[in-house]
Amino acid sequence: MAWDFSTDPEFQEQLDWMSEFVREEIWPLEVLSLDYDQMMRVMGPLQEQVKARGLWAAHLDPELGGQGFGQVKLGLMHEILGTTPYAPFAFGNQAPDSGNSEILALAGTPEQKERYLDPLLAGDLHSAFSMTEPDNAGSDPTTLTTRAVRDGDDWVINGHKWFSSNGSIADFLIVMAVTDPDARPHQRASMFIVPADTPGVNILRDVPTMEHPQEEFGKYGGHAEILYEDVRIPGDALLGAEGAGFLIAQQRLYPGRIHHCMRWLGVAKRAFDMLCERATYRESHGKVLGRHQTVQNWIADSAAEMQAARLMTLHAAWVMDNEGVAAARKDISLIKFYGARVLCDVVDRALQAHGSLGYSTDLPLEAMYRYARGSRFYDGPDEVHRASVARQILRGYEPPPDGVPSESIPRRREQARERFADLLATVTSND
Ligand SMILES: Cc1cc2nc3c(=O)[nH]c(=O)nc-3n(C[C@H](O)[C@H](O)[C@H](O)COP(=O)(O)OP(=O)(O)OC[C@H]3O[C@@H](n4cnc5c(N)ncnc54)[C@H](O)[C@@H]3O)c2cc1C
Repeated sequence: MAWDFSTDPEFQEQLDWMSEFVREEIWPLEVLSLDYDQMMRVMGPLQEQVKARGLWAAHLDPELGGQGFGQVKLGLMHEILGTTPYAPFAFGNQAPDSGNSEILALAGTPEQKERYLDPLLAGDLHSAFSMTEPDNAGSDPTTLTTRAVRDGDDWVINGHKWFSSNGSIADFLIVMAVTDPDARPHQRASMFIVPADTPGVNILRDVPTMEHPQEEFGKYGGHAEILYEDVRIPGDALLGAEGAGFLIAQQRLYPGRIHHCMRWLGVAKRAFDMLCERATYRESHGKVLGRHQTVQNWIADSAAEMQAARLMTLHAAWVMDNEGVAAARKDISLIKFYGARVLCDVVDRALQAHGSLGYSTDLPLEAMYRYARGSRFYDGPDEVHRASVARQILRGYEPPPDGVPSESIPRRREQARERFADLLATVTSND
């Protein structure tokens, strides 16, 4: 009977080390407003400690310099790293470099791996993933219009993208472009590796967002708007097979969603701790907040929802480890919309419990709130994941043959009376 919620003691030790390391060494950096160079300087020694513990780039297989942890272990790790935006940097698995390294590992040629993957893993290069377009629905990437057209041995790319995270500091971009507009929708696009200094790659701006509202350019975590204007790249810039863009993207997005959900739980737990702390000392109407029933409900509901999201996410990770990516499709859609909602709700309750202090920048809750909101649509909006879950579930159902619900009580009563006619006759005769 294998049904086990425990963590290997050896790995638990690693998790305990990570928790302390992240809290003691990385949380303090959050309040310093470091620029990129300063951050890289402070990260160097921290990254060395992570490497010495055997925790560097854990998302990749050992032959690629990673630890080959599998999704359950990675999930547990991301729950800790998610508590602060800087931690993934110290562990060599910051988005989007981690996802892009997975794409390169999956689809890259030996030459592409040597040129891009190895330095990416070493932290010597940065990358961006450039798919979403301002003029088309990112939720339905079959509507992409960026084109890559063959010209002799080269490809020429034209298009307009935005929200290419880290695009303005990237050394190379992985660009999704339509190579065959007449193919079936999911076979129209291909991926290309485009060095950021290729003529025609015009990075217009980092789009200010709810998370980073100021106009800034060239900072880690920016979301670049990019015009690709007659960008000429050689034939060997194609990543994977022609037309395989969506297939590769799915391979990258599925594990990425598990990592997102676990990182959100890390953020939610931090907000939850603030909510509970506040409940112990803030008094209103003659008693501390924790003795008001509404606040008790917030605490209990948050605990239940976080536990549910955590178990659902680890279960999805387990399915992926044991049965493969395709088998986990429904579970991953479930956690994507459920986990995002839990994050938003827990942060909102913690902020509410802190009143004006929560709204102020004296606490990290307002920043968490702004960060949390994007979770409900990046990597697929709630609505799309819900629809996908419902479609997959409905495949297991069919209409009743005569249009009467299977559970109809009059129908079942009729059938039961027929089946148990003898019994009913006896009971009647005994009356
Ligand atoms: C912080 C952040 C980082 C990002 N990083 C990257 C990146 O690195 N690279 C990249 O390429 N992109 C990135 N994106 C873009 C992201 O992937 C898109 O925002 C997302 O795919 C949604 O696409 P859209 O913004 O075009 O919204 P749209 O597709 O226009 O959708 C808008 C809304 O329409 C509704 N909707 C859409 N479809 C349906 C449906 N079928 N049923 C019901 N309602 C529906 C939903 O409410 C949805 O939120 C990032 C976005 C954010 C916020």
